Amino acid sequence: MRGGVVEWMKPGTTGLQDANFAALQAFVNNRDVACTWCGYNLRGLKSGSCPECGRRIILQLFVDPPKPSAMIAGLIALSAGLGINGLGLLAAANYRPPSPDPVMDSEFNWLMLGGLFFLLATISWICCWRALLRKPWLSWLLALVAWMATVGEVSTLLDAGR
Ligand SMILES: [Zn+2]
Repeated sequence: MRGGVVEWMKPGTTGLQDANFAALQAFVNNRDVACTWCGYNLRGLKSGSCPECGRRIILQLFVDPPKPSAMIAGLIALSAGLGINGLGLLAAANYRPPSPDPVMDSEFNWLMLGGLFFLLATISWICCWRALLRKPWLSWLLALVAWMATVGEVSTLLDAGR
């Protein structure tokens, strides 16, 4: 079904092509449908190809995909968290005192841990994109968690900077 081509309409055996043509003919029989290649009106089509440009006509089924709003919101939150964490790491690395400082070292370790979290979360978010698109409630919930993590990251860094 990938790409929207109905399985039984995929070109293959003659039987399948006949089935495709029968469905195609039934569809264009009483409709003004333009050839998507040359614009010729295919009403009353007599063969599986466009009479004008000769291109083979394939009947396809498309699903209106869900809006990726939650996925984009989550991706913005995670990449912002990743970027802000990276800046915090850079700042912490640059302003490290020459003598060992247990407080500073602990903050640096937390920043490393946060960076790892945001990196893995961003990669997982992109890898699970299609699966999460099918679960709008879960993707909005996870996007909210991502925003909370990013806001938490910013407030922690602002506190550390004081
Ligand atoms: Zn055509």
